[in-house]
Amino acid sequence: MNKMLAAVFHKDESLGGEIKLEQVDIPRIKKDDQVLIEVKASSICGTDLKILKGGHPATDNTVLGHEFVGVVKEIGKNVTDLKIGDNVVVDPNEKCGYCINCRRGLSNLCEYMALGTTFGIFQNGGFAKYCVLPRSALFKLPDSIDMIAASLIEPLACAVHCHNIADVKESDNVVIIGAGPMGLIIESVVRKHPIKRLISIEMDEWRGQKALKLGADHWINPKTQDVKQEIQNITNCEGADVIIDAVGIADTFEIATSIWAPGAKVVCFGQDYRAEAKIKPNDIVRYQRKILGSYIGYAEDFLDAIELIANNVIDVDELITTTIPLSDLLSTGFKLMNERKCVKIITIP
Ligand SMILES: [Zn+2]
Ligand SMILES: [Zn+2]
Repeated sequence: MNKMLAAVFHKDESLGGEIKLEQVDIPRIKKDDQVLIEVKASSICGTDLKILKGGHPATDNTVLGHEFVGVVKEIGKNVTDLKIGDNVVVDPNEKCGYCINCRRGLSNLCEYMALGTTFGIFQNGGFAKYCVLPRSALFKLPDSIDMIAASLIEPLACAVHCHNIADVKESDNVVIIGAGPMGLIIESVVRKHPIKRLISIEMDEWRGQKALKLGADHWINPKTQDVKQEIQNITNCEGADVIIDAVGIADTFEIATSIWAPGAKVVCFGQDYRAEAKIKPNDIVRYQRKILGSYIGYAEDFLDAIELIANNVIDVDELITTTIPLSDLLSTGFKLMNERKCVKIITIP
């Protein structure tokens, strides 16, 4: 058998396209620094849906899946610190190490990535039985780690990065806008640290309830409630000190900048390249506020995310709502994602 089942992206004229489950050749190591892994679990990401709808670029005829873990099956000659059978997690964003951003310690902004290099988006990824990756894309995991839970490490690393950017203090009123998968994973990280209170803003009932289950003290539904007034009531007119926008559209940015306390920070995490929002610069100056961006993560964020999963610090059972065989990716996985009644869906090849 040298064929395997894989979920392959086929681009159409609309820039989006479709995913097809097909039999493809099992990849082989071609360079001495490469590793062949057998994928154990691969999580569906909102970005996968965006790719199909044309909201995110991707390479035609590529195996999707960028949040995945596996076991080392074969190693190239130059790989000396991994052995067959090791558990690994993939950092799908390949960095060059020598561009000006990498050398300034901003490897998440590596100029090489702008060319389109992400595994599972621009190069073959984890919705398949096997994948070949450079050693530099892999982090070794403890032997005892639960590999299904470990498939959350990649998005969790982005959440850890966001939490570090937010630099949350114990006395902060923290607001997270959006209780989609990333909003909820960020909430899980924020909740592990002592803070004054955590408030979730979410339009969907199921997701709002999930935010409460994961530890939000309050849930505000902007469809039925006056967000500004509710924040005033809940915080005794203090306002929000840290606001994380996990959606990234004009409406959510405008909510963020209507509830901010003097000295507050807004962390922009959710991405929509079409969004445009209005802001009064004087509202920033006069109250010494900050607007910050958080984009993917650094290698060190992966290390922290690995420890959060390995030590069972994160409530994985609330975050992983469905586990399915890869063959059900389209019929069950994407269907549930579109219905929004799920957090993370994990596929097993
Ligand atoms: Zn993702
Ligand atoms: Zn670089």
